[in-house]
Amino acid sequence: MKKESRNIYDVVVIGGGPTGMMAAGRAGELGARVLLLEKNGNLGRKLLICGKGRCNITNYTTDVHEMVVNYGKNGKFLFSSLHKFGVIEIIDFFESRGVKIKIERGNRVFPLSDLSSDILDVMLDYLKQSKVKIRTGIEVKRIIKKGNLIEKIILDNGEEVMSKNFVITTGGKSYPATGSTGIGYGWLKMLGHKIKTPKPALTPMIVKEDFIKNLEGLSLKNVEVSIFKNDKKIESQFGEALFTGNGLSGPVIIDMSKKVGELTPGDIKIKIDFKPALDFKKLDLRILNDFKEMNNKLFKNSLDKLLPQKLIPIIIKLSGIDSEKKVNLVTHQERKKLIHLLKEFTLSFKSLVGFNKAIITTGGVDLSEVDPKTCQSKIIDNLYLAGEILDIDGPTGGYNLQICWSTGFAVGNSIY
Ligand SMILES: Cc1cc2nc3c(=O)[nH]c(=O)nc-3n(C[C@H](O)[C@H](O)[C@H](O)COP(=O)(O)OP(=O)(O)OC[C@H]3O[C@@H](n4cnc5c(N)ncnc54)[C@H](O)[C@@H]3O)c2cc1C
Repeated sequence: MKKESRNIYDVVVIGGGPTGMMAAGRAGELGARVLLLEKNGNLGRKLLICGKGRCNITNYTTDVHEMVVNYGKNGKFLFSSLHKFGVIEIIDFFESRGVKIKIERGNRVFPLSDLSSDILDVMLDYLKQSKVKIRTGIEVKRIIKKGNLIEKIILDNGEEVMSKNFVITTGGKSYPATGSTGIGYGWLKMLGHKIKTPKPALTPMIVKEDFIKNLEGLSLKNVEVSIFKNDKKIESQFGEALFTGNGLSGPVIIDMSKKVGELTPGDIKIKIDFKPALDFKKLDLRILNDFKEMNNKLFKNSLDKLLPQKLIPIIIKLSGIDSEKKVNLVTHQERKKLIHLLKEFTLSFKSLVGFNKAIITTGGVDLSEVDPKTCQSKIIDNLYLAGEILDIDGPTGGYNLQICWSTGFAVGNSIY
């Protein structure tokens, strides 16, 4: 089917994630005739899996300057959109629509219900109130440019759609099963935009050591993880880590993965301090006391109070201490080796897990070509870009959805 549609829309938004929904909703609220196109059968597929289905909607950092700093070097792009529609405004947006909010450790903001579907429901209602026309199960295939304007878009059924303005909110390349396959980057290159190479970020890490598979599922609380490149310490973080079948995951690892991605290639080591509350000397005393109390116990049976069960056989093997040796015969030198393992358990970084398991994509549309106040393209007059497709991302903790709300709102607010 090939059908010319009349130019009946003020705005066509491509991509029904949180960004597209906010942009479409706000433009419609202000009176624009808006069409929202989504290739999945329903909107907000990725939004629903956010925060393991609980949806960490933002981070309760109410000072805009502080918020901007937390986004790193590209953070200043968000200054204006956060000022207009930042943390307080998005919380108010959901609360005023009946969602009760709670703040957890690390200023993470969640719906009290722990249900991301409550957040999606509000967005769907907002679109309805704003009289946005929604078409799902429709994929945009091509974008046709004329001069420095987008003339029309072509859908997968051959239909052509025209509009005064277009918004691309197709997201990044991570978790492609949710619909974000990175198609927008190709369109934007074709339209003359510079794209900073998209890379997976906020991902688990794969390590070289084979023994790691024996630790799968082991979760560690209150550990300190440090990253070293060529023996130089780059960063340390304290918190939770988790062993996977081939490496490490968990909040601390996910948060440090962006930095590690920037460090590659090179000799990168991940060191885990299982006992950060005790320095080498104190840990030595503690072990010495434990060994004294245990008297004749075999070394292999002596670490139960100190370490989780799964870790014990590996620590014993790596320590080189005879597992059948009685603890009172363990030498000072052997104890030193053991302590070193507990304080600096070293793994060799192999790679990040790819886009399939990355929470976000780092890189994207070069920010120098986008107006930070309106998110309008500086290359194509009737084009607006927002959300994860832009070259800006934040750490875990609600920062990435805040980009979507703020930039999506900026588009909707200025496009009509
Ligand atoms: C597992 C996981 C958990 C996360 N948890 C959190 C969290 O708790 N807090 C947080 O701040 N961030 C979280 N994030 C990150 C957050 O989900 C993203 O930053 C956010 O979804 C990006 O929104 P977006 O609207 O820009 O893009 P997306 O959400 O990726 O939406 C893009 C939409 O465009 C559609 N699309 C693509 N191509 C086309 C096309 N050709 N035609 C029509 N439609 C198209 C896609 O189907 C998709 O629905 C998480 C991410 C993942 C993967």
